[in-house]
Amino acid sequence: MGQTTTKPTGRYQCRDCIYAYDPAVGDLKQGISPGTPFEDLPDYWVCPVCRASKRRFISSG
Ligand SMILES: [Zn+2]
Repeated sequence: MGQTTTKPTGRYQCRDCIYAYDPAVGDLKQGISPGTPFEDLPDYWVCPVCRASKRRFISSG
């Protein structure tokens, strides 16, 4: 919090399990190329672990 000099990782944490989406990794199993920001994930994308929807994810920096 308040770390304006630190570049955010863009990671998003699933609220229903331990999975965190990392845009540097993407999600190849669902056709998401590395480098895809969380905001650009398609609406049909779900958590690869527990199948929670994008709305269940919160920014973890
Ligand atoms: Zn999950």
